Amino acid sequence: MVPVSILDNGKMYTSIERTLAEKVTFYITFAPVLSKSINYLANMSVIVVGTMAFDEIETPFGKSGKIIGGSATFIAWTAANFVQPINQISVVGGDFPQADMNALAAKGVALEGVQIKKDRPSFYWAGKYHMDMNTRDTLVTELNVLGDFQPEVPESYQGSEFLVLGNLSPQVQISVINQLRERPKLIVLDTMNFWMETAMDDLKKVLTMVDVLLVNDGEARQLSGEYSLVKAARKILTMGPPLPDHQRKESTVHCCSMRTTCSLHLPLPLEDVFDPTGAGDTFAGGFIGHLAKTKDISFENMKTAIIVGSAMASFCVEKFGTGRLREITQEDISARLEQFVELVNFDIDLV
Ligand code: AMP
Repeated sequence: MVPVSILDNGKMYTSIERTLAEKVTFYITFAPVLSKSINYLANMSVIVVGTMAFDEIETPFGKSGKIIGGSATFIAWTAANFVQPINQISVVGGDFPQADMNALAAKGVALEGVQIKKDRPSFYWAGKYHMDMNTRDTLVTELNVLGDFQPEVPESYQGSEFLVLGNLSPQVQISVINQLRERPKLIVLDTMNFWMETAMDDLKKVLTMVDVLLVNDGEARQLSGEYSLVKAARKILTMGPPLPDHQRKESTVHCCSMRTTCSLHLPLPLEDVFDPTGAGDTFAGGFIGHLAKTKDISFENMKTAIIVGSAMASFCVEKFGTGRLREITQEDISARLEQFVELVNFDIDLV
């Protein structure tokens, strides 16, 4: 079973075998320079912007109750396994547990950029998964402190080489990019239907400012208005940073479909598929973590980063919320990666 489908210059050189699920995460790079190997990065630090939240999740296997979640929470818990510090930018209310902040700090996450609004509630999201665990309904989105969040990039975060714009308001994502005196070497963007429905113009603007977009199949379809995922990827590519025509032509269509949103996307026989929430963010954390650790943002290395992201996402789904990510060790990660590589590498004799 081969889990990665890559279109490079329009040629499909690794094919995908779809198994149980149709859910994919697109990874689309906009900048042609990324097809070259770049190994000169001096600073491995990563800025992560996103939500730190309370989630309430219902799956066919149970209910989580109110637990800690949020895009930046998942990304930070994951990426800190690879590089430190993770420079977090977010906002929480006075209700966000100090113990969870301390746990993140102990993991190597800098929290100077996390604003605490003592008298207000944190971002709250509730969702319900259907039987196939690939589709979910958002039941409640309460922006609370996120509603008027004005991010402030601390001085100590300036100079970070990597920026992950996790899922949150595109206005906040743009504001963070604009506050950075030096453009990071790689900017990765994640988003979701909520922002396409409420802030599409700003989302289109931020798309022109980034290098890599991570979205799942439904989001790619919604963003592009195309059902075919290949057509969707090509259309989204035109929404990226403006490039001179000749560069656009040479620019590679890197459209990698990855099965990340739940274990069904991976050829790994996971025993516990409890909760897919945060798998996309965890994928992003593993993806950026690997690139930052190896200081290499070439397309070749991004393919490895996709495998790492996918392996990390496979942990995320094993328990509710960040439960499993908090437990795993470096040994667990290495063992899962080996398992993954073993399963996706095979020799065949073509007759
Ligand atoms: P994922 O399953 O990777 O899409 O991420 C789920 C996480 O995203 C949850 O922990 C939520 O708290 C968070 N989330 C849900 N809706 C939004 C939103 N509109 N903006 C930012 N984060 C969100």
